[in-house]
Amino acid sequence: MRRVAVGTIVIGLLVLGLKTAAWWLTGSSALYSDALETVVNVAASVIALIAIRFAARPADKNHPYGHEKAEFFAAVIEGVLIILAALSILQRAWTHLNSAAELEAPWTGLLLNVVATGFNGGWAALLGRAAKRYRSAALGADSRHLWSDVATSLAVVAGVAIAVWTGLLWLDPLLAAGVAAYVLWSGMDLMRESVGGLMDAAPAETVVTRIRETVGQHADGALEAHDLRMRHAGRQTFLEFHLVVPGDMRVAEAHAICDRVEAALKAEVEGLVITIHVEPEGKAKHSGVVVL
Ligand code: ZN
Ligand code: ZN
Repeated sequence: MRRVAVGTIVIGLLVLGLKTAAWWLTGSSALYSDALETVVNVAASVIALIAIRFAARPADKNHPYGHEKAEFFAAVIEGVLIILAALSILQRAWTHLNSAAELEAPWTGLLLNVVATGFNGGWAALLGRAAKRYRSAALGADSRHLWSDVATSLAVVAGVAIAVWTGLLWLDPLLAAGVAAYVLWSGMDLMRESVGGLMDAAPAETVVTRIRETVGQHADGALEAHDLRMRHAGRQTFLEFHLVVPGDMRVAEAHAICDRVEAALKAEVEGLVITIHVEPEGKAKHSGVVVL
């Protein structure tokens, strides 16, 4: 995973070089803002790399639940950077709209930008697959950001090409503004998801259902389970619930039931950390109950 993050930074620097050259050759504002967005990409990748290193640390005295949430922080910071980039594109588009000028060497510049976009697209696809495999919020954020960058670049290239071809100079700042709106939206989306993680959002409904069913199927000897709560942090999912057993059941027997349920749950859901609170009958509830 660390190698993937370093690769993102290397590809980002390569793309940044190509896009800066494209801007420098043409003097186009649209190509300049595209290069600027790549600066955000590289900065975000560095933040993600630091977050991944930090998140991988095992639990310690100060952080007994582990450091996995560091990845959510990285995703939030990346969302902020995306929003700043979008605002900066909007500002440049506005300035450009008021002082449109002929471009120098437009086709060479566009070709350089297209090559850079090809690199970005290839790497974004690779990152998306890695994010799914490692269930990493930071890598997922990186991949989505890169895709939004590819979309930005394609719209910018199309806008500049049409503007040069038709002589309608106002076209390309207008397209850049449309792209900025899209980038802004993707940044908001990314932030909402990461904030959900920081706020201990419940896992997907399918996971919750699967866990309830597994508890129901493996707790023979117990009477019911209630107050089931779950939250997830990176690759870890924390689960806790109350298990009601007959009041005269021996502790060793109740503990054996807990061990059986825990083993079944861990086989069902990867990265599960389980706490079970055992109660004597009479403490049974009538809501949120898993029937055994
Ligand atoms: Zn209870
Ligand atoms: Zn135990």
